[in-house]
Amino acid sequence: MFEDLERLYQAASAALAESKDSAALEAWESAYLGRKGAVTLALRAVGNLPKADRAAYGKRANEIRDALEQAYAQQAELVRAHELARQLESGAIDVTLPGLRPLQGGIHPATRTLREIAEIWREMGFQIFRTREVEDDQTNFELLNIPEHHPARDMWDTFHTTRPGVILRTHTSPGQIHAMRRYAPKPIRVILPGMCFRYEQISARKEIQFNQVEGLAIGENIRLSDLKGTITAFARRMFGADRRVRFRGSYFPFTEPSMEVDVECILCGGKGCSVCSGTGWLEIAGCGMVHPTVLRNGGYDPSRFSGFAFGMGPERITMLKYGITDIRYFWANDVRFLNQF
Ligand SMILES: [Zn+2]
Repeated sequence: MFEDLERLYQAASAALAESKDSAALEAWESAYLGRKGAVTLALRAVGNLPKADRAAYGKRANEIRDALEQAYAQQAELVRAHELARQLESGAIDVTLPGLRPLQGGIHPATRTLREIAEIWREMGFQIFRTREVEDDQTNFELLNIPEHHPARDMWDTFHTTRPGVILRTHTSPGQIHAMRRYAPKPIRVILPGMCFRYEQISARKEIQFNQVEGLAIGENIRLSDLKGTITAFARRMFGADRRVRFRGSYFPFTEPSMEVDVECILCGGKGCSVCSGTGWLEIAGCGMVHPTVLRNGGYDPSRFSGFAFGMGPERITMLKYGITDIRYFWANDVRFLNQF
């Protein structure tokens, strides 16, 4: 009876020493100290013993249980430390492995074209003049010779703010008024790049927001030939020195006469392809001589001053250059698209 107790103690101690991981420890605990463990059962057996033996047996059984509990706690601590060490070792950093490459940013394709355009105009003596994207109705339309009820307003749908008469500009042309009123009566040579907004159904060819680069030259004796020569020089810098350029009559309320500018298709060289719809020409800009009313609204006397203005879309030019088929890619923020540039 007492011998059984000592044998149990020895067996339990030996088994504990062999329990080298948390799973083995858990099994050991339930085998010896758990509710149905051997030590627990041995302690419960006190009641079945002859009265004379009970006290001594009980005392020894309690000692054994305490000793085993303490040994168990020590062993558990040891196992925990080992397992932690092993975990650290297996998850160790191998400094000789190649690192994770950080995601590299780049310049947005529209911005890239915008900078290219600005650089060409800079070399021709044009400064950048920045103006606001939120405009009043008067500057966006009226002062540009587009009075209320003028049919030209039908060309664009407009984002209106909750304040009457305050809108998101539909084109960069209101910047012409700001530039003229700033510099009149001095000569002007500026480009006005920036975002424009139109309330339109978006499609592969139309977005609700897009960049424009407006240009404005004002002075004495500026003629249509100056406009044509300047635009042609730009187009050849932008699209190639041998590129043919043509002007077609058009209409804008703020220029008179007005023209569209085409360059020989950069993809087929003028033979005709799907991008140029078989015509061999690509439209790159609108332009014209500044309307006398606009000159007057800007503070210039149209009998003494004249000027030309033009407008082009960097996104459209980027699409032509890279064969991009859908304008919505530009502002969709998809890095798979942006990473290609
Ligand atoms: Zn073509």
